[in-house]
Amino acid sequence: MNDRHPSNLPRLGAWAAKRMLHYSGLLALARHARSRVRALVLRYHVLTDGPSDVLYAAPGVCLPVEAFRLQMAFVRRAYTVVPLDELVAAVARGGKLPPRALAITFDDGYADNHRLAFPVLQGLGFPATLYVTTGALDGGPPLWMSVVRALVRGAPGRELSVAGLPALALGTVAERDGAARILTRALVPLAPADRAERLARAAEAAGVDLEHRLAGVMLTWAEVRELARAGWTIGAHTVTHLNVALASPAEAEAEIVASRDAIAAAVGAPALHFAYPNTGGAHRYFGPDTAALLRRLGFRSAVVSRAGALRPGADLFTLPRLGIGPRLAPVGELAAALERQRLAA
Ligand SMILES: [Zn+2]
Repeated sequence: MNDRHPSNLPRLGAWAAKRMLHYSGLLALARHARSRVRALVLRYHVLTDGPSDVLYAAPGVCLPVEAFRLQMAFVRRAYTVVPLDELVAAVARGGKLPPRALAITFDDGYADNHRLAFPVLQGLGFPATLYVTTGALDGGPPLWMSVVRALVRGAPGRELSVAGLPALALGTVAERDGAARILTRALVPLAPADRAERLARAAEAAGVDLEHRLAGVMLTWAEVRELARAGWTIGAHTVTHLNVALASPAEAEAEIVASRDAIAAAVGAPALHFAYPNTGGAHRYFGPDTAALLRRLGFRSAVVSRAGALRPGADLFTLPRLGIGPRLAPVGELAAALERQRLAA
């Protein structure tokens, strides 16, 4: 200490204090950043061999496998891929999430998940969670949204009639995509059997062989078992892609239980995670009642199709996910979208 300039002491003290505050402030910020750790969940549906459309799903949920491969290579460099289970456990405990944690999920149970996504993920050692619509697997009745698309794409002529609904104009591919969206939204609230019946009659009248056109689109149970053995988590997504918020409580419970039990019987492990089917995005598809029902039935988490990031203390029955479609296919777009979600307040 320089005792020749005692007047400098208080100034020096203030400077040191400021400096200390500065550093402690930085430390506090760093602590804050750690407590605000975000994890991300990606939501995929369909992977395609090339850039062309498939008959069984909306173009907005399809991604060419080559784009997926590049995305996963990027994810490997920039994030830590963890099983969804691990994220759910960390959120439930209120514990820390791994830094830059990210989980990968697939919805519905399309066969392309096994054929195209599985080899890519296996090559990188990445686990994934697959939410299966159990009734459509293994050659069961096709998913009703796939039926709508196959019908609208395949119907000859300029118009399509479905009982109880206004006739839909069919023309160009774009018009047919529009018609599929309108028809899908109109059909969401119907009871599964009623909807299936109307679609089957419309297909028959239009001469569209749905069984032939949609053969092999969904996974078999043998494939699901293979994915489970390789470390994938198999979650439930109802039997018929039922909107569980619009269905009667009894109907919702019956489908959730049946899908849970079918998965348990097939893979030998209980289904603990659920994805609320949300078809077309125009209707309410989850709520406190459905969350309470899932809890009662032994589920540990449920995911929605709203973007966002997971943080400690998040509601385990409305976990957000970032939907990956053609718009986010380029790695640059994906990277920007992921960071936006991760850093959002
Ligand atoms: Zn779905």
